Amino acid sequence: MNAQTAKIREIAKELLEKQEVQMVIGWEKGTFFYNSTPVFITKPEDVERLIWDEYCAVNLAKLLMDYRHVEGKVALFVKGCDARGINRLIQDKVIDRGKTYLIGLPCPGMKDAGKAAELGKDKAGEAPLEAKCLRCTHPNPVVYDVLVGEEVPVTGKEDRFARIADLEKMSPDEKFEYWSKQYDKCIRCYACRNVCPACNCRECVFDQGQTWLERAVERGGNQFYGLVRAFHVAGRCIECGECERACPMDIPIMDLHHKIAKDINELFGDYEAGLDPEGPLPLGMYKTEDPEEFM
Ligand code: SF4
Ligand code: SF4
Ligand code: SF4
Repeated sequence: MNAQTAKIREIAKELLEKQEVQMVIGWEKGTFFYNSTPVFITKPEDVERLIWDEYCAVNLAKLLMDYRHVEGKVALFVKGCDARGINRLIQDKVIDRGKTYLIGLPCPGMKDAGKAAELGKDKAGEAPLEAKCLRCTHPNPVVYDVLVGEEVPVTGKEDRFARIADLEKMSPDEKFEYWSKQYDKCIRCYACRNVCPACNCRECVFDQGQTWLERAVERGGNQFYGLVRAFHVAGRCIECGECERACPMDIPIMDLHHKIAKDINELFGDYEAGLDPEGPLPLGMYKTEDPEEFM
């Protein structure tokens, strides 16, 4: 057991024993060596299930939504991306910061689970980082009540907008062709929506029967779904990369979100969502001094 796993178990045990929180949400080892999955601990004797390893990529922030109405506090482990997800939910007035206890974990970057599985357990150490971690600008939690360990340097080795450079050079027809092929693969499983901390509406437009989107999984509907979701999280997307990581069809969803984020940066000035719940919210709040040259 690594030192940080021992420490997080100790913190969780104390919080539950003193009844300072009702539940601790963290990660436990999954079925395979390359899975670390969310776990919900309510008894001090169960803290031994908690772990912290190189496969804790799952962003836990959204899981708080299911427990926002419980009495008392819920504790949650937060990496940089989880913490930004928490700020997203606070700024969207979905959760109450006063009902959370955040245990911050500086994050060295998570291994690409798919590549680790291909390499096998013995060679898994050679697996690269998850794509989202290669572009991560905030590996240290931006909000927490207690921090476990020392802050780490920025993980991202790639410019977060580098991947969209080729896309931006395409003509409108080429872009249509490219995204049509990508969204032809979509099976409308909604995993990208379900993991997304910015997709937090009480009722999602895509769950309203066939009012807005027909059930058939086909090109037009799939693209409509992808575009509506991208614009709905515009300015609120925390760039955690969970949508793309969760997609079973390897659709490069983050290219849509990064393109919108890049445009917002160019139009409204440097901006990253989820850093400050009291901060600006381009496209989410109207101000008379907003730039409008592009309108
Ligand atoms: S995106 Fe950043 S904080 Fe999140 S798992 Fe990757 S390196 Fe860690
Ligand atoms: S759209 Fe994707 S990257 Fe953005 S917040 Fe949602 S899951 Fe994270
Ligand atoms: S996760 Fe991928 S396959 Fe599933 S709905 Fe989203 S884009 Fe489509």
